[in-house]
Amino acid sequence: MTPPPHIPLNRPRLIAPGPVEVSPATLLALAQPQMHHRSPEGRAKFLETRGKLSRLLGDAFEAVIVTGSGTAAFEGALVSSVPAGAKVVNASAGKFSERWGEMAARLGYDVTSVQKPWGELLDAGEVAEACKDAFALTITHSETSTGALHDLQAIAAAARAVNPDLLIIVDAVTSYGVAELRAADWNVDIIVSGSQKATATPPGLGFVLFSPQAEARLIKDTPKGFYLDLERELRGQKQANTPQTPAINLVHALDASLDRLLSVPLEVLWAEKKRQNDALIAAGEALGCRSWASRPSPAVAVLVPPEGLGGLQVAAQLASMNQRALPGQAPHEDTVFRISTLGYADRYDALSVAGILEDAFTALGAKFERGAAVAAAWQVISS
Ligand SMILES: *Cc1c(COP(=O)(O)O)cnc(C)c1O
Repeated sequence: MTPPPHIPLNRPRLIAPGPVEVSPATLLALAQPQMHHRSPEGRAKFLETRGKLSRLLGDAFEAVIVTGSGTAAFEGALVSSVPAGAKVVNASAGKFSERWGEMAARLGYDVTSVQKPWGELLDAGEVAEACKDAFALTITHSETSTGALHDLQAIAAAARAVNPDLLIIVDAVTSYGVAELRAADWNVDIIVSGSQKATATPPGLGFVLFSPQAEARLIKDTPKGFYLDLERELRGQKQANTPQTPAINLVHALDASLDRLLSVPLEVLWAEKKRQNDALIAAGEALGCRSWASRPSPAVAVLVPPEGLGGLQVAAQLASMNQRALPGQAPHEDTVFRISTLGYADRYDALSVAGILEDAFTALGAKFERGAAVAAAWQVISS
């Protein structure tokens, strides 16, 4: 049955795990007259935003704002805290964690990879075993390529038990501001994220948050970085005196986004984001899909389509409906499709995505009872 004609949005709706939809308040912050980053107003805004980044973690970590995407922030974290040639254990189970292993190897570190196949969960015991004589552990909390939320708390505890001095560097790019993340309690040292994920700001900023212990261990004048020397950055940023010109307009935009996220207690934010994503998974299940990961990240629903359909096909169908979702990442492009309400979206957006999925799956010839996905999503968000 062909649906009746309608008036579509004149732009794609972003239902991918980054870049995400951006709020009007954040977009308007970008439309303000240019401010100078060395002016009193510019410096005040910079300090205020740094403080909000720490508050969004809920722990007393010091934030550095990097002009560059999350990958730049991660590179800065590595070169500023891990000395040349040191042993780095990389826990890997998907695209982003593989990236950190590759990065560490290129930077000349002695890398040991502890791997699980994509879609599976890292094993705390295995990771800890490899960390005995390591300087640092790099680990991805929410693996956006597979939808797995790895048990960071258990893994950090196991690794710390065999190596108290281990420096734990966390890719929290899609868990910061979304998933329960208690960095101090869980004893992790460095948290990395980026602007176009939960903080629902245009791409271009990365964040690195340091525990007091990690801050004390930062390398002075690292030979492996100049622009990404975060020891120097942190010293400067504490005084709102950045060594380079920051993307101050994006910082203003970020500040507006952080206000929205911080308008509720972190526990409320985490629970609501999980509820929204669980609603997406429930909608997918009503259409015959299943979550690829057994411990799903609240940032993204990574769904294996039912027999006969591929992830590329589902993503292409959604794109033809002006809905920007994503297929899997190479080499698993066709295994899954990925949908998300990670950014500026509320629970009713999750309901709307459920409806969109119904229309997409109908167009693809899937058999299901109309209304089932919307009802399943509603069941989750209303309970
Ligand atoms: C998006 C993302 C990154 C970083 O990507 P950039 O494109 O460099 O911002 C890193 N890790 C995860 C888990 C991500 O989702």
